[in-house]
Amino acid sequence: MAGSRISGFHRLGMAERLEVVAGFAGLTAAQVAVLAETGALPAELADRLVENAIGVMPVPIGIASNLKVDGVDRLVPMATEESSVVAAVCNAARLVYDAGGFVTSASGPLMIAQIQLTGVSDPQHSRLEILERREEIAGICDGCDPVLVRHGGGFRELEVRVLETRGGPMVITHIVVDTRDAMGANAVNTMAERLAPSIEGWCGGKVYLRILSNLADRRLVRARAVWPADALGGAEVVDGIVAASHFAEADPYRAATHNKGVMNGISACVLATGNDTRAIEAGAHAYAARSGQYRSLSRFERTAEGDLAGSLELPLAVGLVGGATKVHPTARVCVAILGVTTAVEMARVFCAVGLAQTFAALRALSTVGIQKGHMALHAQNLAMMAGAVGEEVDRVADAMVATGEVRVDVAERVLGELRGG
Ligand code: NAD
Repeated sequence: MAGSRISGFHRLGMAERLEVVAGFAGLTAAQVAVLAETGALPAELADRLVENAIGVMPVPIGIASNLKVDGVDRLVPMATEESSVVAAVCNAARLVYDAGGFVTSASGPLMIAQIQLTGVSDPQHSRLEILERREEIAGICDGCDPVLVRHGGGFRELEVRVLETRGGPMVITHIVVDTRDAMGANAVNTMAERLAPSIEGWCGGKVYLRILSNLADRRLVRARAVWPADALGGAEVVDGIVAASHFAEADPYRAATHNKGVMNGISACVLATGNDTRAIEAGAHAYAARSGQYRSLSRFERTAEGDLAGSLELPLAVGLVGGATKVHPTARVCVAILGVTTAVEMARVFCAVGLAQTFAALRALSTVGIQKGHMALHAQNLAMMAGAVGEEVDRVADAMVATGEVRVDVAERVLGELRGG
């Protein structure tokens, strides 16, 4: 077998690269054809988006229906490979639709970039030297991005901290930038890099890192909703969801799974719109740990009337311009379906989806359990894994669900019987 050290691989065309990989991995012609079929993302564009491209990874887009966000009905595209995620949002949103749906708010699209100054003997003095130059710093930052400034964004605030570290004190400068409809990573990274030599010039020492923080806690979005107890099946269901919320607030083991439920919804929206899922996940989990203990992002309480009040707050640095958002054809269509005109408006809809998603998970978990709803779709996946095609998929899945034995070995056996084996 050939090795992985392929000289000049990046200089090959996409089809040639695929040929090399096929030879390396022994792919069949059918497997090569799967990768070569790039669907709505033209091969040329895929090749520009990432390095060494050989194909694409299609993920289904499902539409979350029934959402009313700030009085506006929305259909929300969600790109996810996980079954039950889209259905869960639809159900959660349906149960709260007549009660008014979701109410959201946002702190505004402020991003933070950090500049790490090391090796100064007088860090407190240096901190003030930097703070005194606020106007100069604002000018340097805004000078990097006249387009952003034209759109109403640009430098907003300056924060400087002395950080005690294992390697000695560091002077950490934060520039806070309004990035408007951009996620803003490139925008603020450029500013931080441009500013670094000036900081070294003013204070001495050496700047190493100059990059945004994904803990975008100046870019928070919030969503809340009240689910009527009657719509949920009564007071006991409300109590169960509230108890689940208390559990997740107190225990990081539970909080991790609780927040995975939130992000099932949000990451799917983020991916559908061509935004950076890793940036959003990093921000959400860092925000969940801001007290020093990792906690749940969403909270559920019983209202005075006995209904269920849900709330969610997290950083959501998503953009409508920049990165892949404006160039990926599928992402553009998803944004068109959402019908939003600003990045903040989009983030608010995503936050509502996150709240709906976490509600649905807790409702299932605190009542019948998660597996009941999952099983029908999971059974279909297992049937396909066992080789079922066309109508066989439903027949094998139904047979497994009926017996309560939903496993791949059972799928294989049922399929064999179906085919008269
Ligand atoms: P970008 O630089 O591609 O585009 C943003 C620019 O678009 C702005 O700087 C501005 O000049 C212009 N613009 C035009 N119309 C605008 C409007 N209405 N509002 C705001 N700006 C407007 O993109 P970006 O958002 O700065 O960077 C996003 C990309 O950076 C993503 O692909 C992300 O994956 C990547 N990235 C992320 C990280 C991280 O999260 N740690 C680090 C580096 C890069």
